Amino acid sequence: GATIGILGGGQLGRMLSVAASRLGLHVHIYEPAANPPASETADRITTAPYEDHDALTAFAKDCDVITYEFENIPTEALDLLEQHRPIRPCREALRISQDRLTEKGWLADLGLQVAPFADIKDAASLDTALERIGAPAILKTRRFGYDGKGQARINAPEDAADALASLNGAPAILEGFVSFTREISVIAARGLDGRVACFDPGENVHREGILRTTTVPATIPHSLATDAVLMASRILTALDYVGVMGVELFVTDTGLVVNEIAPRVHNSGHWTQNGCQIDQFEQHIRAVAGWPLGDGKRHSDVEMENLIGEDMDRLAQIAAEPGAALHLYGKAETRPGRKMGHVNRLR
Ligand code: ATP
Ligand code: MG
Ligand code: MG
Repeated sequence: GATIGILGGGQLGRMLSVAASRLGLHVHIYEPAANPPASETADRITTAPYEDHDALTAFAKDCDVITYEFENIPTEALDLLEQHRPIRPCREALRISQDRLTEKGWLADLGLQVAPFADIKDAASLDTALERIGAPAILKTRRFGYDGKGQARINAPEDAADALASLNGAPAILEGFVSFTREISVIAARGLDGRVACFDPGENVHREGILRTTTVPATIPHSLATDAVLMASRILTALDYVGVMGVELFVTDTGLVVNEIAPRVHNSGHWTQNGCQIDQFEQHIRAVAGWPLGDGKRHSDVEMENLIGEDMDRLAQIAAEPGAALHLYGKAETRPGRKMGHVNRLR
C-alpha cells in the first residue's frame, strides 16, 4: 500500500495512523518530540526538527502524499516538502488558519459572519479598537493559540493594559465577544474529486477555553444544521480543499458566526469514532490518499467527553461503565490541562 506522511505525532496523528493501517496503508510520522502518542501506531517515525532539511527530504521521498495534524508547521519546511510530494490539505488552508487575523478577514470576504475584529499592534491600536468594538472583548495572539491559550478577556477598558501585557508583545487580534446561545462545529470532508461530505453538527461545551464535551445531535433546528453544513462546504470548496476540516461556529440570534477553522481532523469530531460507520480519521485518510469518501452518516446519538489532566483519576470508573468507548492517547505523563484521552458514550 501507499505511504501517508503525517506531520505531527500527537493524538490526532495516532488516530489517523490507526485509520490508515485499517485501509492497508502505511504511515510515516514526522515529529520533533521523542516518543509522541503516534509512535506506537505508525509504521515509521522520523524524530527531527522542522529545520532539518535532510530529514525532511528523506521523509518526503519515503511518502506518497503528506498531510498534517497541526497547523504550526514552518513555511520553509512546507516549501521543501512540497518540492517532492503533494501536501494535502493545501498550503493555502494552512496559511489562512495559522493567523487569526488572516483567517477572520478571509472568512468575512467569503461572505460569512465573524466577530468584529481588529489588528492590535500596541496600546494605542488597542484603545482605538476597543472604542469601535466595545467591551466585553477578547484579545488573542494571532498565531500559535490553542485550548484558549494566548487569550485575555477584556471586560472593561481598564483591563486593556493588563490584557496586552499578558500576551508578552505577541502580534494580536481583538475580537468582540459574541453572545452566543450555543457552540457547534461541523466536521467536513472534501475528496480529490471535489465531493463534500459533512458529519452532523456537534454541540460543544468548553471550560476554561478547553473543549470538554461534544454532543450529537446538537440541539438546534434542522434549518440551522443545514445552514452550518452549507457554510462548511462553501469554505472547503473555496479553498479547493482535500481532507477533513473542523469549522467552529457560534449560534446567535442573528444566525451562525464562524469562530475559527482547523485544517485537520478535530477534537469535536472524535464522536464519529463510535457514532458513524466511517469516522473523521478514515474520511481524512481516504481524502488525502485520493480514495472516494465514505458514508459519514450518523447511526447513533453520542456524547464525547475529553479526559483532561485529573479526569484520569476517574479512569477505573469510566472503564467499568458498560458501553463507554474509551480512546486513550498513551501519554506517559498526566499534566493539568493536558488531553489524555476521550470517552464516547452512546445516548
Ligand atoms: P481550539 O483549542 O479550539 O483551537 P483556541 O485556543 O483556538 O481553541 P478559540 O476557539 O478562539 O481558542 O476560543 C476558545 C473558546 O473561547 C471558544 O470555543 C469560545 O467558547 C470562547 N471564545 C473565543 N472567542 C470568542 C468570542 N469572540 N466571543 C465569545 N466567545 C469566544
Ligand atoms: Mg483554535
Ligand atoms: Mg477553538
